[in-house]
Amino acid sequence: MEYTAEDEKLIESKWQDLIESCKKICKNEADWNFIKRAYFLAKEAHQGVRRRSGEPYLLHPIAVAKIVVDEIGLGVKSVVASLLHDVVEDTDYTVEDMEHIFGHKIATMVDGLTKMSGVFNTDTSRQAEYFRKVLLTLSDDVRVILIKIADRLHNMRTLGAMPQNKQVKITGETIYLFAPLAYRLGLHAIKTELEDLCMKYRFPKEYAEISQQINETSAARDEFIRKFNAPIIETLDRYGIKYEISGRVKSVYSIWTKMVRKNIPLSEIYDLFAIRIVFQPLEFPSEKTQCWQIYSSITDIYTPKPDRLRDWISMPKANGYEALHSTVMGPDGIWVEVQIRTQRMEDIAERGFAAHWKYKQSSITQDEDEFDKWLKMIRTALDSPSQNAIDFLDSFKLSLYTSEITVFTPKGEARHLPYGATALDLAYDVHTKIGNKAIGAKVNHKIVPVTTQLNSGDQVEIITAESAHPKPEWLEYVFTAKAKQAIKNHIKSEQEDNLQRGMDMLDARLAELNITPNNRVIRKLMEAYNSSNKDELYVNIGAGLVTLDNLDKIVKTNSKNKILKFWTLFIKDNDEEADEELDDSKKNPAKEQNNHSQLVIAECCHPLPGDNVIGFRDPITHQIIVHKATCDELNRLASQHGDCIVKEAIQWSQYKTQSSLATIEILGIDRMGVLVDLANVITNDFSINMRQINVQTHDGIFEGTLSLYVRDAESLNVILDRLRRVKGMESVKRTTN
Ligand code: MN
Repeated sequence: MEYTAEDEKLIESKWQDLIESCKKICKNEADWNFIKRAYFLAKEAHQGVRRRSGEPYLLHPIAVAKIVVDEIGLGVKSVVASLLHDVVEDTDYTVEDMEHIFGHKIATMVDGLTKMSGVFNTDTSRQAEYFRKVLLTLSDDVRVILIKIADRLHNMRTLGAMPQNKQVKITGETIYLFAPLAYRLGLHAIKTELEDLCMKYRFPKEYAEISQQINETSAARDEFIRKFNAPIIETLDRYGIKYEISGRVKSVYSIWTKMVRKNIPLSEIYDLFAIRIVFQPLEFPSEKTQCWQIYSSITDIYTPKPDRLRDWISMPKANGYEALHSTVMGPDGIWVEVQIRTQRMEDIAERGFAAHWKYKQSSITQDEDEFDKWLKMIRTALDSPSQNAIDFLDSFKLSLYTSEITVFTPKGEARHLPYGATALDLAYDVHTKIGNKAIGAKVNHKIVPVTTQLNSGDQVEIITAESAHPKPEWLEYVFTAKAKQAIKNHIKSEQEDNLQRGMDMLDARLAELNITPNNRVIRKLMEAYNSSNKDELYVNIGAGLVTLDNLDKIVKTNSKNKILKFWTLFIKDNDEEADEELDDSKKNPAKEQNNHSQLVIAECCHPLPGDNVIGFRDPITHQIIVHKATCDELNRLASQHGDCIVKEAIQWSQYKTQSSLATIEILGIDRMGVLVDLANVITNDFSINMRQINVQTHDGIFEGTLSLYVRDAESLNVILDRLRRVKGMESVKRTTN
């Protein structure tokens, strides 16, 4: 639809806003012309196109450009690339056109952005593989990732216009990849907003409740903060320091995760807010010294909690975060967290890596090669040929969440490891060979198992032995992607040997028994030996973990016919467009029946009746796996196979049960244990609610009736079939009354 005069007015006002923001980055006429050319090209290219919300498409690139300059702090080239970021993907313009009009640099950035959206639009399992390739090509220009984050932030801010299945896909990717990525790049404010937005769309009720509670208590909190701050203000003023002091409430998302993790109500979260002091340091003494001076004057007023002092100035976090955090005893016996930092540290904390660049020329900053180290690590992981794409994504994600500890080698060399790392992680961090040969460690001169978790400040020596080799259970004790990968590689090569040996052993044994190794046989063996796939079966055999003594028995028994027990779940039919939540009165019980047989409860999170659930269609079996809405695995899957999220809502049926009472007549030959067998069929195999069982025996015959609740005729027939197979059973039939 052509843009109306009103649309044009809106576009013009947003463009003027952007111009206003660009004043701080444009140094000359050439800069302005560069941005204007990009704007006019984007305007022409997206002319007449609208977003799902109905607003002119052009508002999106303008908004992304504004985030890039205002909230991330990038420069002219990034603004140009942001304005053009959807042009190649959505219009007839090509990367070559970009090269001609805007030059090589812009063309590669737009190309990177186009490829990256390709990754998230694809619905195949190769998404992870693409993602890996894209990261590999763009890891030398971090700005592309930063713009992509800005793009995602704007899409999240406008997510309300999307249907629910798209919302789940997008929030899944956001919480699984973008928020950690933003965190890793030091974009604290953006990471927090992304998380809050995810929660707002996925858990609207919880989000609204917590926000409301925070608002309701704000007056009392402000009063407390005023009282707490008063003596600090007095002291700092006396020293003539230029500073700002504020009390900040934590994000809704972080409060909520804490409530869920600790299973406590909001009222019991004591660190709901923190006091932040941001100051302009003097030339002398050092920033660090001045931070400690402020710390010292605060702890003259309030007593600090000794184990809650965090010095991220001497040793910044891996994402560049610097500050001094302390928790002190405030008025009314309440613990209060105080954060002390300079304006420069504040910029870096809020705007992350982009702010690092701003300060790079100035001499104040220390090493910022932390980030380079991380990029190098990503490249190493990407280059590892043995890693498959999904594993890569997982270890990539692992490396995004680092909250670091620092330990020391016997020679006093400092090494940074993620929080939770063990001596094994250190061993692998030093060298793969050392990890593979590790048998123990000396932590602070005391001998401990190699799986011991390390603490910041530990001095660690790894003890090795030539005969040692990695054990599979080590995987549970290592934290770093590098150690995980090295152990997996080692086990894999060992497993390949076992696999071959297992295959040979099984073939030989089956041949001895004269059994043809077809799929049916293999499936039975997998079930009997608890293997989830063929390879695992062979490996277990090859490694001697299972014996083949009972092979013939296993092959000859009938495998249990497992019946799914999920009839309390149903798919709520809704149109793609009608994504508004229906209230209870509009639910249509008649639709409850549809597709219920395909719903399978997820193994990973085991949702129970009443849990919020989301369906995910397995790309191979086409079953719908039902996960808890909070499931991490679901987020992981959503980020990789977003289009497999079932677009209809899945709900537990609550209004009435569909089961009805059926009565079955049985007749058979009496034998010991027949009642137990009957009861087993009904309760174990079907989990059916048995109302009544009435069996009499006489003259070696038993007969009786069973009253059961069943869902429908079809499931009743299945039960009848099973009962007929009970030993001694002569007749099983449904009574007609
Ligand atoms: Mn976009």
